[in-house]
Amino acid sequence: MRRRPIVARTFLALACLGGVALHAPALHAPALHAPALHAPALHAPALHAPASRAPVLRARAPHARAPHAQAPRVPVSRASLPGSPAGGSGYHSYAETVAEAGRIVAAHPGIARSAVYGTSYEGRDLLVVKISDNVAVDEDEPEVLFTHHQHAREHLTVEMALYLLHLLTEGYGRDERITGLVDGHEIWIMPDLNPDGGEYDLAGGSRRGWRKNRQPAPGSSAVGTDLNRNWPYLWGCCGGSSGSPAAQTYRGPASESAPEVRAAADWVRGRVVDGVQQIRAHIDWHSYGELIMWPYGHTRADTAPGLTRDDRAAYAALGRSMAAVNGYTPRQAGDRYVMDGTLGDWMWGTFKIFSYTFEMYPARGAPGFYPPGGRIAPQTARNREAVLRFLEYSGCVHRIIGGAARYCGAGEGPAAAPGRRPAPA
Ligand SMILES: [Zn+2]
Repeated sequence: MRRRPIVARTFLALACLGGVALHAPALHAPALHAPALHAPALHAPALHAPASRAPVLRARAPHARAPHAQAPRVPVSRASLPGSPAGGSGYHSYAETVAEAGRIVAAHPGIARSAVYGTSYEGRDLLVVKISDNVAVDEDEPEVLFTHHQHAREHLTVEMALYLLHLLTEGYGRDERITGLVDGHEIWIMPDLNPDGGEYDLAGGSRRGWRKNRQPAPGSSAVGTDLNRNWPYLWGCCGGSSGSPAAQTYRGPASESAPEVRAAADWVRGRVVDGVQQIRAHIDWHSYGELIMWPYGHTRADTAPGLTRDDRAAYAALGRSMAAVNGYTPRQAGDRYVMDGTLGDWMWGTFKIFSYTFEMYPARGAPGFYPPGGRIAPQTARNREAVLRFLEYSGCVHRIIGGAARYCGAGEGPAAAPGRRPAPA
């Protein structure tokens, strides 16, 4: 308790301050309200490697294997470390996360499958789990992506991924609403985008407050790229990241220089089928701040190239609707502090995927990035209704402003089948 305020403020400052910001004291009002957060992240262009529609988990067949066979190469038990979050209870290490996802998939083989979409800098498998009816088939249903743990110290986001896996699989066939959502969508969950950083953050019983990955910066003794500043849409454009390798928001020497970003970006590009991006909506999970944010992050302007007034209205309407049920604060990402090279900007700017960034508990101050294990259950379940609402609109978010016919070629009714959007220009 004694030093926590200091630590928290340090994180806050580091988080709020993008490269340029490091020089500018975080004293404007927004910073005072927005705790420390690191920044949200998410997405970009180039559509290559179109995939054929047949094999869903086709990507990287050589890597694909049964979840239980994904033996972690670096077994470190986060949960058993004395210095782990909450003194150890409740949190899953990388190995435990992989094992838990494997158990869930094995218990629900008809609606859940996992695959490895890439490899981290240190060689850990990057896992994605698909949940849908007829899970082995790439059906023509709107797709949704959840990404977790871009930032190493944000361990609560991995627990959020496991919560969602349990919710959607165990609710299937029991809860009518969940059953309908699983039947009508293809839901992808990436529980851990940054396993190297996450393991390092708690290695040896420490709490390092680590944010980045573990990749050495070229020509420097510094280690780590901020994954959420490394995505290829307007990368490094706007003073919302740092070019200094030692900085918390170091954007890397080039966009997609981080293998973790490249792998996930390649996977998203691989969801372009017949020229159409299949993913309609996305949530990138972070902590902390209790915020629901939407693009753009690289500007404070409400509208910008690629983001119209209607887009903005739809983002805000669904953002506020979700915030009304989880108690978070809805806002445009750039209103908190400008950030560039984020996953959210890439997803929207490149593919017109509706991309939200959720900053989880706490709102500010202690316990910061390390909530006690007892907070995991309530703080993940807190997002249940928001996520279900998100899934209900995910096929056509414009529907929330009455724009289904115009933007999605579909009816306006709540049960309207989501139409396919034209390929992004
Ligand atoms: Zn984060």
